[in-house]
Amino acid sequence: MSAYTYRVRSQPDYPILKWDASGARHLLVILDLDTTSIADLCDSACPGPLEILLRGEATHPALVRFSKENVLIHSFASMDSLIAALENALDQATMGLRLYALGHEDGLWKCNKAGQKVGMSRDEIQLAQASTTGRPVYCVHCGQHMNLIHTNITLCAGCKRHLLVRDHFSRLLGAYMGFQIDAECPGFIPAVEEVFP
Ligand SMILES: [Zn+2]
Repeated sequence: MSAYTYRVRSQPDYPILKWDASGARHLLVILDLDTTSIADLCDSACPGPLEILLRGEATHPALVRFSKENVLIHSFASMDSLIAALENALDQATMGLRLYALGHEDGLWKCNKAGQKVGMSRDEIQLAQASTTGRPVYCVHCGQHMNLIHTNITLCAGCKRHLLVRDHFSRLLGAYMGFQIDAECPGFIPAVEEVFP
């Protein structure tokens, strides 16, 4: 193994979702519907009772298989209502639950946080990035949290500094660190490019 890797150690790596047969019950949170990822999951039958919390419409063709199998699908119009329902479901859950989350990174780490709050371990939670690589960003200067940042440099919504979006990721904050880019040369802002489509 090379001593040097391009990826920053803190940068999360997202494998594809796979049913965990050691679980007694399964809760799938779909933050952004990604047809390919759902198709991969559908390759094998869920090994136990499954419930789905979904942002969007439960009538999407990718979900037909689940509706045929009488899986309970709860659909929500907003992220906030979805996360609130997840927290509620986790509060009532007993041992043996496995949590799967699919979607953009900001939502994934909100799901992770909700799971950890009720004592789930990291191997009982699977996170899979889907539909966008837009990043959640935390401004280290004022603590502002922003989501779905697609560019290498972004303007902080809080302190209005120009932030360089680093690869450094905090699991605790569920965000990449943003540092003022022109701290040493005020006003010098390199070209802004879309790097997280
Ligand atoms: Zn700021």
